[in-house]
Formats: sequence, C-alpha cells, structure tokens
Amino acid sequence: MTFARGEVAASILAPHYDAVRDVFSDYVPEGEEEPLSRLKRTRLLVEESVRDSDRHYAGCRDDGLQIILAPAAAELPPATLIAIIAHEFGHAADFAYPGSWLFLSQGDPARWVDGVEGKRGTKLRSLWSERDDDQVEWTADSIVQTITGWKVGYCGRCMLQCFQGGQRRPAGLR
Ligand SMILES: [Zn+2]
Repeated sequence: MTFARGEVAASILAPHYDAVRDVFSDYVPEGEEEPLSRLKRTRLLVEESVRDSDRHYAGCRDDGLQIILAPAAAELPPATLIAIIAHEFGHAADFAYPGSWLFLSQGDPARWVDGVEGKRGTKLRSLWSERDDDQVEWTADSIVQTITGWKVGYCGRCMLQCFQGGQRRPAGLR
C-alpha cells in the first residue's frame, strides 16, 4: 500500500520529527547548564534517496544537522516511526557534539564527557574518530537511552527500531 508521497508524507512525518527533536534539543547533559541547542538546527528532509533497502527509512548527515526520512516512513506505525527518528537523533547528538559522548556498552546509557581537557580529552576525541560502524550505531542507541530513558530494541523481520521488546542491535546490521 502506498498512499503517502511528497507533501502528504512530509505533513505526516513533520509533527513526529518536531516532537522528537524537541526532546533532544531541550536535554541538558549532566554537569552542563545549557541544553543540546545545536540540535534545534537539525533539519528534516523528506527524500526517497535514503530508501535503498527494505529496512532503510532514515539517515543522518555526518554533521548532525540534517536527518532524511523516506516518504514511505509515513506508512509505519507511529511507535516504530518515533523509535527510528529517535535513533537518528542519537546520531545527530553524536555528530553535532564530536567526542562528547562516551559509549560504555550495549544496553547502557552513554555518558556525557564534554569538557574533558588535556591528554584524556585528546585521547577520547581520537578514539571517537576511529570507531567502527557498529560502535557508531550502538552509540546512537546509547545516547537515545541517556536522553529519553528508553532502550532502543530491534523488532520484526526488517529489524526496525522499537521501544518495546525487540533484541539488541546485532553487529553488522546495516
Ligand atoms: Zn543508525
């Protein structure tokens, strides 16, 4: 079934996107006084290009300032859509604040470590840029957990993000 294309899809996706963005951009990390206001500038682009496989509905630019949703995402159940958008904002928070989050392990919230100076800070930033693809994906979900308090799981045949049930993201899932 395909009903949501172009502007119709955008009008369905935008309110969900805005609601999730507000949660992330209003979040004040531990030890900080200001929220993650860079994420207020993260724009939504509704575009087909991101849909290159059955499980790809979304993507985040590597500066964290643009999230792309495929028009087909408008046909997903709202809970699934919200979990997918939250995962992308996990990436956005990671990319817009490079080296500021410490990934501990899957299932644990990421820790905010911005402001670490000197040798330890340099080491953290170089580790951040050397992460492999799985670590980048797991970090996004850990940041979601820190900010929303919800664990991201992976559900169904396509292993889409979900907040209820599901399993941990397997290594190699793309
Ligand atoms: Zn991802």
